[in-house]
Amino acid sequence: MTNNKAKYIIVGAGLSGLTSAYVLNRQGETDFFVLESRDRIGGRILTENEIDFGATWFQNDHENVIDLINNLNIDKFHQYSKGKSVLVYNTMGPAHYFEKDSNTPSAFRVVGGSMAMINALASGIETKIKTATTVLEIKEEKDGVLLTTNKGRYKAEKIIITIPPRIAPRILFNPELPESLIKTINNTHTWMSNAIKVGLTFRSPFWRHKYMSGMIIGQTGAVTELYDHSDVNEKTHALMGFINEGLRDVSKVERKTKVLNYLQKHLGEEVLDYITYKEKDWSKDRNTSCETIKSIYMSPRYGNSKFESFYLNGKVLFSGTETSSVYGGYMDGAVYSGVKAAKNLLSKS
Ligand SMILES: Cc1cc2nc3c(=O)[nH]c(=O)nc-3n(C[C@H](O)[C@H](O)[C@H](O)COP(=O)(O)OP(=O)(O)OC[C@H]3O[C@@H](n4cnc5c(N)ncnc54)[C@H](O)[C@@H]3O)c2cc1C
Repeated sequence: MTNNKAKYIIVGAGLSGLTSAYVLNRQGETDFFVLESRDRIGGRILTENEIDFGATWFQNDHENVIDLINNLNIDKFHQYSKGKSVLVYNTMGPAHYFEKDSNTPSAFRVVGGSMAMINALASGIETKIKTATTVLEIKEEKDGVLLTTNKGRYKAEKIIITIPPRIAPRILFNPELPESLIKTINNTHTWMSNAIKVGLTFRSPFWRHKYMSGMIIGQTGAVTELYDHSDVNEKTHALMGFINEGLRDVSKVERKTKVLNYLQKHLGEEVLDYITYKEKDWSKDRNTSCETIKSIYMSPRYGNSKFESFYLNGKVLFSGTETSSVYGGYMDGAVYSGVKAAKNLLSKS
């Protein structure tokens, strides 16, 4: 038998799972592991080269994220939005330009990228986080739960599962989960699992020099949204946004050509002098997405009450942003559910 034994195990080292781990640790409970199938932590938060290829923005009313970054001593800053923005609304006519009302505050970004939050949450508990460890089976035993992973077995008294519900049925549950919960799980869309992000870096923010914000809203064409993504110190100059999902299945080369042509048309020739160009298609990422994806642009209903209960006789609790009744889908929902799950675990032990 394994000596990978802990009082608690958290499945998934995304924002929700790491928030639970952080809360447990802060409450003096250090007997836990976090099992993460990717070879990195962060889940749908991924900052590379100062570009957020996953979650980026939060608002004033995302109080759970704001509380968390305050506790972690992480700073926030406003999304750059000065200058003319572009609205591309049909293929035939010219684009429109508009300017944001300077009295309306823009969304916040995390200084250092959203990954700064993840790194701060993991700081001090690195040895408890087991990456490249995929949970394959969860079996209830008399005195706890046995988890079979690709790296051996783990045992805990109670566990929190933070993986996107839609991919949870890949795990074999023994005994099986109730049918009504499985139905809810299968109907819970994974927020943003269909998104394709693109990020480009430049030697200078040429768009700002032309009094352009870098923002494009594309109702038609290769890019659906684009924003200035320079860092707070303006050392990295970048544009980041979303590629039209209609280009998902064309070749990489064709997609990149279409994106660059589009950006060149709306922001200028300078786009072609990029230093780096990178895309991330989350639908192709098995640890987020499932085989059947569909585009959902409005936040679907999250926080189904079925996720409130413990399963397997009080030993298994579901968490993660899609289970959250508060800003489900968003980082705020991930933090809310992470705090709630950890407190729930502690109070029931
Ligand atoms: C492109 C994109 C843009 C976004 N933009 C924003 C934004 O601007 N603002 C905002 O608020 N939110 C945004 N979001 C949403 C935000 O990223 C999520 O709400 C949040 O990161 C979810 O955290 P989570 O911990 O609930 O789930 P996840 O981050 O999905 O974490 C779950 C973890 O479980 C792991 N896992 C999966 N299966 C297993 C297994 N079998 N065994 C072990 N581990 C497993 C995964 O690898 C993952 O690390 C965006 C998301 C994407 C993809």
